[in-house]
Amino acid sequence: MRYDVLIIGAGPGGIFSAYELTKLDKTLKIAVIEAGNVLEKRICPIDGRNIKSCVNCETCAIMRGFGGAGAFSDGKYNITNDFGGTLHEYIGRNTAIELMEYVDEINCRFGGAGTKMYSTAKSAMKKKCMQNKLKLLDARVRHLGTDINYIVLGNIYDELKDKVDFYFNTAIQSIEKMEDGYRVRSEKPESGSEHAEEKVFEGDKCIISVGRSGSKWMESVCSELDIPTKSNRVDLGVRVELPAVIFEDITDELYEGKIVYRTEKFEDRVRTFCMNPNGIVVSENTNGIVTVNGHSFEDENRKTENTNFALLVAKHFSEPFKDSNEYGESIARLSNMLGGGVIVQRFGDLERGRRSVQKRIDEGTVRPTLNATPGDLSLVLPKRLMDGIIEMIYALDKIAPGVANDDTLLYGVEVKFYNMEVQLDNNLETIHKGLYVIGDGSGVTHSLSHASASGVYVARHIAGKYR
Ligand SMILES: Cc1cc2nc3c(=O)[nH]c(=O)nc-3n(C[C@H](O)[C@H](O)[C@H](O)COP(=O)(O)OP(=O)(O)OC[C@H]3O[C@@H](n4cnc5c(N)ncnc54)[C@H](O)[C@@H]3O)c2cc1C
Repeated sequence: MRYDVLIIGAGPGGIFSAYELTKLDKTLKIAVIEAGNVLEKRICPIDGRNIKSCVNCETCAIMRGFGGAGAFSDGKYNITNDFGGTLHEYIGRNTAIELMEYVDEINCRFGGAGTKMYSTAKSAMKKKCMQNKLKLLDARVRHLGTDINYIVLGNIYDELKDKVDFYFNTAIQSIEKMEDGYRVRSEKPESGSEHAEEKVFEGDKCIISVGRSGSKWMESVCSELDIPTKSNRVDLGVRVELPAVIFEDITDELYEGKIVYRTEKFEDRVRTFCMNPNGIVVSENTNGIVTVNGHSFEDENRKTENTNFALLVAKHFSEPFKDSNEYGESIARLSNMLGGGVIVQRFGDLERGRRSVQKRIDEGTVRPTLNATPGDLSLVLPKRLMDGIIEMIYALDKIAPGVANDDTLLYGVEVKFYNMEVQLDNNLETIHKGLYVIGDGSGVTHSLSHASASGVYVARHIAGKYR
């Protein structure tokens, strides 16, 4: 199976590089190799009734498959260089913004046209934040919503399926450098597996776009091919859930406000992340570790009365311990050990130094949208992080009174793992010519828009070489 370009991973990075390559050069033979399933077969068994928590499937339907980790996400495409990755450091600020706008055009063309674009420009909230020691970061955000995001992905797949060879349920295990390109080999399926046999592909060029779920594998590739890497950070915290009305001044105007607070005690930066107005809190499984996240929907019928968002603190380790992800995993494991999965606690209980119990949660005014175990988050998160989060809740209470109410729910832990940063040049090419690493797997991006833009960028670079 010889190709011009091999693309490993069918998340936004892989999809947009395939899309752009097919558009720029119709003669190219392209393979997209994906560990997970086709979009319509990506079904998580958790139904909230019979199966309430993660059963550790062989391939996580939430994180893997066509659409990648973003397939069931809220579909918020932020057009900004202020957060979501450091792509602009490689390709320049203007190019990065142009490519994110281009990705937005494509998303609109494939089904997202009726969705709303929000902007922080001229927002009154910016001043209110400043007056209360908070900083609102600048961005425009296209909110596709989980349902429209799914439709857009389905339409893009229909566009690509006859132009590109897709191989699903095919996890690549090794990459070998040859004189004229790269040879990649898939994992041997377990005996009795319904999936096909081991496969070998060869390509002139190879784009690796394996996202967060492929982080461990990416590390092994870098070590085998002597590609230098740098350790990256980990973000740790909780997901806050409260009545949507409390936060509506922010969410109605901005949909998602990225707000940063510098704590008085430790001068740490705590930030809001992934706001889901009228959304739901969900659990997610990364390599067997259950953490918390959030979704929201465009469809009025699926909206809830609550808004959720994460409060995160970044941690970066260097010497003698430098595995920031391992630190995050250990804390998530501790929470899984105490709660059997995600833990939920009322803010009032946290402040009074007691664990939450089901009765107090049931009596509260906020109805939880995730069935989590009532517990005590202060036994899980280190004091420094917990203090920062509590300080931030009181700071937010000044711009949105009610955030610090006793019944506000905190779910833990939320962890944002970042891949180690792979050494890349300005073409996102490794020290090996023709081997590119894009998207979240490179450590350069950590968002839908940046990952997608990195795919378009590399595709243009490769197509230029053929023309
Ligand atoms: C619940 C959730 C909500 C989110 N919401 C948002 C949001 O609203 N806005 C936003 O900007 N970002 C959001 N994100 C983050 C966003 O999804 C990612 O930044 C984005 O998907 C990264 O794209 P990617 O292509 O780099 O990687 P991914 O989307 O992770 O895709 C990588 C793909 O590679 C495959 N793969 C991995 N290893 C191998 C291998 N060895 N062989 C073959 N295939 C492999 C995986 O199965 C996966 O499908 C969210 C993430 C989650 C989990």
